[in-house]
Amino acid sequence: MNKFDPKGQSKHNEKIESGTGDMEDFECTMKPHAIPIVLANNDHSFCLDEDALSKVLMQDNIKDRHVVVISVAGAFRHGKSFLLDFFLRYMNSKYVHKKNISDWIGLDDAPLDGFSWRGGSERDTTGILMWSEIFLTELANGEKVAVILLDTQGTWDSKSTVKECATIFALSTMISSVQIYNLSSNIQEDDLQHLQLFTEYGRLALAETNLTPFQRLQFLVRDWRFPYEAPYGAVGGQKILEKRLRVDENQHPELESLRRHIRSCFSEIACFLMPHPGIKVSTSPTFDGRLQDIDSDFKNNLKILVPMILAPENLVIKQINGQKVKARDLVQYFKSYMQIYQGNELPEPKSMLVATAEANNLSAVADAKEIYMNAMDDVCGGTKPYLNTAVMEAEHRRIKDKAVQQFQSKRKMGGEEFSEKYKEQLEKDLEESFNQFKAHNESKNIFKAARTPAVFFALAVF
Ligand code: GDP
Ligand code: MG
Repeated sequence: MNKFDPKGQSKHNEKIESGTGDMEDFECTMKPHAIPIVLANNDHSFCLDEDALSKVLMQDNIKDRHVVVISVAGAFRHGKSFLLDFFLRYMNSKYVHKKNISDWIGLDDAPLDGFSWRGGSERDTTGILMWSEIFLTELANGEKVAVILLDTQGTWDSKSTVKECATIFALSTMISSVQIYNLSSNIQEDDLQHLQLFTEYGRLALAETNLTPFQRLQFLVRDWRFPYEAPYGAVGGQKILEKRLRVDENQHPELESLRRHIRSCFSEIACFLMPHPGIKVSTSPTFDGRLQDIDSDFKNNLKILVPMILAPENLVIKQINGQKVKARDLVQYFKSYMQIYQGNELPEPKSMLVATAEANNLSAVADAKEIYMNAMDDVCGGTKPYLNTAVMEAEHRRIKDKAVQQFQSKRKMGGEEFSEKYKEQLEKDLEESFNQFKAHNESKNIFKAARTPAVFFALAVF
C-alpha cells in the first residue's frame, strides 16, 4: 500500500482489507467441509471453481508442500463418500502416529459424518469435491506433506452422463497420486474400458519421457461375494486383478491391447476385496453410519484398507513427469487440465499431453520468477538502501541468469521448442519486474536528494 496518503484513504482501505481478512479467518476456522471444485453445467460442460481451489491450496502453510492426492472414483451409490468418511476419521485421529492402534475407527454409537453419503437415490450433480481441511502429515524422512482428499460424484446412466463421468474419472486420475477405483461386486470389462483413454495417453507419454504417467491405481471391489474363491483383502484382490488383466490367447485384439497397456500407465496397480457391510448399511433408512450397525468383517477389512492408503509409510507423493508436485502447482495443473475437458468430446490423448506440458512449463516459470523476486528483494527490496544503477543492473543480470537456468534445468514435457516460448515469456516478465525494482530504487534516491532543509520544511507543513 502506498505510504503517501494525504486523504487517509489507506486507512479506509485497511479497514476494508482487515474486514475481508476476518471473513477469511472465519471461513478457515469454519467446520471442515466438502468444497465443490469441479462442477458439471447443465449443458454438460464443466467449470472449475478456481477461487475455492486457490483458497485451500494457496494457504501459507500449505502452498509449498508436496501433495498426496487421494481420489475415490466410480459409479454412484457404491459407498465412495461413506468410505472417505472413514479416511477422515483416520486422518483426524490423534492415534495416527502410534503403531498398532486401531481406535481411529471411532466409537460404536457415533454417527458417521464428513462427505455426505446419505440421501437415498436422489441425484447429485456430477463433479469433484475437495475436503476443505488439508492434512499435514509427516513422512518417515521427516518431510511434511499435504494430504488432499477428493470425492467424485455422478451417475453413469445415460449417454451424456456417461461422458460426464468419464471426464470426471479422467480428470481425477490425472490430478491424484492414488486413484481408488470403487466398483460394485467385481471388475467388469467396461470398468477396464474406462481406463482406455489413459492407456493411450500413457503410450504417448512413455514414448516422449520414458516415465510412467500415473502412480497408484487401487481397484476396490465392494460387496465381494466369493471369499472362498479369493479371500477378502489385498491378497484376494491381487488374485482377481491378475485374472482380469491376464492376456488370453483367444481374446479380441482390442481387449488384449487394453490389458497390455493398462500396466504401462500406472506405476502400481493393486486391488482390494471388501465384504458386504451388512443389511442395515445397504437398506436401512435410519442407518446413520454408526459402527454397531456395520458387519464386523467389513470393519476388520476397513482397519486394514485405510492404513494401507493413509499410513505415513504408505503415502504416495504426487508426481507429474517425474517431478514432485507442490500444492501451488496443483492449481496450475487443474487449470490446464480443465481446458481440455471443455469441449463436448472426451479429449484426445495428444491434447492431454499438451496440457501436461503446458502446466509443467507454467509451473517452472512460476518457480523461476519466485527465485528472481526473492533474490532481488534481498538486494534492493523495500527496506534496502538505494543502490547505484550499475550495481543494480549487474545484480539483475546475475539473478536473472540464475532464474532462467533454474527454468531450463527443470524437467518439462513437450521438448525444447515448446518450452522456448515460456522461456521468452519468463525473460520478458523478469525485465518488467526489474523495471519496477528500478523505479522503486530511484524513489529511494529522490528521497535522499530531497533531504534539503526546504523540502523538510515543506514536508513538515504538509
Ligand atoms: P457414493 O454415491 O458412491 O458416494 O455412495 P455413498 O457413500 O453415498 O453410499 C450410498 C449408500 O450405500 C449408502 O446408503 C451407504 O449406506 C451404502 N453403502 C456404503 N458402503 C457400502 C458397501 O460397501 N456396500 C453396500 N452394498 N452399500 C454400501
Ligand atoms: Mg458420494
